[in-house]
Amino acid sequence: MTNLKNLRGMVDLLPSQSQGWQKVESIALEHFSRAGLQEIRTPIIEQTELFSRGIGENTDVVGKEMYTFEDRGGRSCTLRPEGTASVARSIVQHGLLNNGPQRLWYRGPMFRYERPQAGRQRQFHQIGVEFVGLASVMSDAEVISIAWDFLKDVGLNDLTLEINSLGSNKDRNVFKEELKDWLIQRFDLLDEDSQKRINLNPLRVLDSKNNSTKELLLEAPSLNDYLTNESKTRFDYLQTFLDNLHIPYKINNNLVRGLDYYSHTAFEITSDHLGSQATVCGGGRYDGLISELGGVQTPSIGWAIGMERLIILAGEKILRSKSPDVYVIHRGERAEQVALEITCKLRSHNLNIELDYSGSSFSKQFKRADKSMAKWAIVIGENEASKGQLLMKKLRDKQKDVETKEYIFSKEDLDHLIKKLID
Ligand code: ATP
Ligand code: MG
Repeated sequence: MTNLKNLRGMVDLLPSQSQGWQKVESIALEHFSRAGLQEIRTPIIEQTELFSRGIGENTDVVGKEMYTFEDRGGRSCTLRPEGTASVARSIVQHGLLNNGPQRLWYRGPMFRYERPQAGRQRQFHQIGVEFVGLASVMSDAEVISIAWDFLKDVGLNDLTLEINSLGSNKDRNVFKEELKDWLIQRFDLLDEDSQKRINLNPLRVLDSKNNSTKELLLEAPSLNDYLTNESKTRFDYLQTFLDNLHIPYKINNNLVRGLDYYSHTAFEITSDHLGSQATVCGGGRYDGLISELGGVQTPSIGWAIGMERLIILAGEKILRSKSPDVYVIHRGERAEQVALEITCKLRSHNLNIELDYSGSSFSKQFKRADKSMAKWAIVIGENEASKGQLLMKKLRDKQKDVETKEYIFSKEDLDHLIKKLID
């Protein structure tokens, strides 16, 4: 029988890694809660039409990357490639905007059929924020600041925030025609992908990763020159907000984002330490999406962070597992009773306790306790157990080589014990 393996690009998150993920997620949750955001959870599978309408037929995501299949009832279903379209659908379907603007966050797996490499998988995870029903430039700045502050708090430095304005639909349509003409005149100089995009989605050519195309594009007409004064003023105002928040940024006129529903603000947060998968966070304003999905025209802005890339950047530090506060060493039947009892009690006081399961000699258990990097050991032998006592031992501090101290407590003397543990 052959051994079964995971599908290509679908990755197991192993126990040694999950603690780092949990830490990053808990930092995110704190930030979201402080910003008054509420969580939304939508299904992983949706009607294919949601994504073809909400993302755009001519994008790579819809054209090449979706996991689409027919279910047993003959419906075309798709594993979600991103979160925004589903969130927007849910908002429209449940009339959430009747309660006012929605400030939401989500997290979960997304699926895209791409070539797997470092920072690029077929099942990957995003954590994202959507502000739906807010038009002001202040909301653009707030949304960006939530991403920026969160990433800083995870410990990421060397990040670059790039911003651009895509203008209104009208600005962009005029520009699209000009750009198309310019590209057609240089058709033979373009890479094959870009040649295909000219008619389908000329803006996407600006997003090309091909080096010679990129060089050619330096001379291309710039969307910035086609913005109306109103759009330009809006973009300037965003910069004033960011300056005031001391969030550094670069203007990148070629930043167009892959998805069709964006307008005005587009932004990405990148890092030099991610190789060619440099973008850790992508977002922007999508004023056209809710109406595309059957709702009323609703200004909205959001972002998504790729968890795998974020974890790569956070590095070893965040992945290291948390050491327990206490390692519980015990020997004998009566001691076992007390050991589990005291473990549960201390855990209910928010302490992190590891309970020995080896049943080996005290000296071997002490070795395990040292290895766990716990600060304290609680030791319960038959003798202690019969007297209703616990022995507490400070474990050798690897760095400082501090003296080992021992304390004896009665089992009931929990408050005293806890005080000692958190000192
Ligand atoms: P890229 O240009 O890297 O393909 P994208 O523009 O397709 O990114 P978005 O749709 O904006 O990405 O998704 C937001 C974030 O999700 C990205 O910045 C990235 O961090 C992450 N992401 C996107 N696709 C993948 C993937 N296949 N594997 C891992 N992370 C991904
Ligand atoms: Mg992509």
